[in-house]
Amino acid sequence: MQPVTDPEILAGYLTDASNVQGRADGLFRPTSAEEVAAIVREAQSTRTPLLVTAGQTSTTAGAVPMGGWVLSTENLSTVHTIGRDTATADAGVLLGAFQDAIEATGRFYPPDPTSRYDCALGASIATNASGARSFRYGPTRPWVESVQVVLANGDLTEVDRGTPIPAGWPVPRWHEPHVKTAAGYYPADNLLDLLIGSEGTLGILTRATVRLTDLPAAVHGIVAFFPTRASALAFVRTARAAQRADCNGPLSPRCLEYLDRNCLELAGSRVGTVPDGAAAALFCEQEIHGDEDEHLQAWMDALEAHGALADDTLLTTDDAGRAELHAFRHAIPAGINEIVVRNGMPKVGTDLSVPDDALEAMFDLYEQAPVRYALFGHVGDNHLHLNLLPRTAAELETCKAYYDRLAARAVELGGSVSAEHGIGKLKRAHLRTLVGDDVIAQFRRLKQHVDPGWILARGNLVEPTL
Ligand SMILES: Cc1cc2nc3c(=O)[nH]c(=O)nc-3n(C[C@H](O)[C@H](O)[C@H](O)COP(=O)(O)OP(=O)(O)OC[C@H]3O[C@@H](n4cnc5c(N)ncnc54)[C@H](O)[C@@H]3O)c2cc1C
Repeated sequence: MQPVTDPEILAGYLTDASNVQGRADGLFRPTSAEEVAAIVREAQSTRTPLLVTAGQTSTTAGAVPMGGWVLSTENLSTVHTIGRDTATADAGVLLGAFQDAIEATGRFYPPDPTSRYDCALGASIATNASGARSFRYGPTRPWVESVQVVLANGDLTEVDRGTPIPAGWPVPRWHEPHVKTAAGYYPADNLLDLLIGSEGTLGILTRATVRLTDLPAAVHGIVAFFPTRASALAFVRTARAAQRADCNGPLSPRCLEYLDRNCLELAGSRVGTVPDGAAAALFCEQEIHGDEDEHLQAWMDALEAHGALADDTLLTTDDAGRAELHAFRHAIPAGINEIVVRNGMPKVGTDLSVPDDALEAMFDLYEQAPVRYALFGHVGDNHLHLNLLPRTAAELETCKAYYDRLAARAVELGGSVSAEHGIGKLKRAHLRTLVGDDVIAQFRRLKQHVDPGWILARGNLVEPTL
């Protein structure tokens, strides 16, 4: 196989959602796992760096090549089987389309990164992606049954949780923080768990089998407005405790998403449904298990008890209504993007998570942001995305320094520097802050052992040794 070298075609593979610009000498778009294996062997024998990419929605430059070849999974795009308990598809299948096909059979694959209609199944496993529903269902990891992978030496192999880590691999031994996290090599006791979240550095996933569960019979969507941040967070604590006590109980949200005052301004100017006096809102979903009225009553009681602007609560019980609520929520990224374009400066977006008892402390810091900002995200998991919106190059530097301080503080509080977006090439310093020099050295030893030429995904997760 010869790589594509036409600069016009290559140009489409040199960046991702981080907007970092990379460079590459060639592009492969294999159609089979055997071709992937041959390309990996060729890259190893010619010592050519090889970066696997998919939807290029990485926000951390994980999908940006820094020389060498790019291997796109776009032509590994077959859905093989959808059964009752598992479904199998090639790595390049778009996650959202795969999920729609599964749901058409009455089954459900829960991981839901917001980018799911633009990102690929294999990449979502390679980054251990999460999303709003991870509050109930966890990240991608527990939903992966097995993968087919081309390892760094070119071996094509099937891996499940019974597959041992090959003898001699120096597996990092460290303790992940007890929060939602997608940062660093997983301290795994089997090869599958080590590959999940390894960001293309240990192997190229070519196919995956995922676990399925019951598709909920119905899902209610709720947007509740609150007069203060404190009242919204008090409701979060109550709803979270109820969900943890009984995950199918009357009050058992599958997601709890926070929208701050600045987000409400952005959404209000577009969709016009924000009541006066609202300082914060929660976007929530409730799966219906049993009596629908019992769920509704539990929600109304809890919202009233926490001083929500109950008369203004938006509640929908069908798919059409839920789509309207999603439109409300999605008006916020659209509004942010408009400001970014107007400012002519990239936004700086955080991805930090902390333990329950540190949430307010992080809120206090977020709200002292040095520039205009919008704060939203997965508050049920204590994981918010602060979007800093600088207007000048100097403000951009201030924002990056502020992010560094926030990351350090999140670590001090027992949190993670990346809850779901991964480390890529942009957050290696934050990873070091999280794990320390000794664990970074362990990560590097693993990479060095598995891929001595640092051929695969060079620069992701850890600095290359060259
Ligand atoms: C608007 C937006 C919203 C997002 N929302 C979320 C969210 O809610 N939750 C979340 O977790 N993430 C989110 N992300 C981040 C990103 O979408 C996810 O990490 C996603 O899983 C990446 O998929 P992709 O197909 O775009 O992969 P790419 O960006 O192309 O690649 C991502 C990484 O995976 C590696 N990789 C790709 N394919 C393979 C493979 N077959 N084998 C091994 N490694 C591979 C690449 O080398 C790279 O390191 C968001 C991004 C954007 C832009």
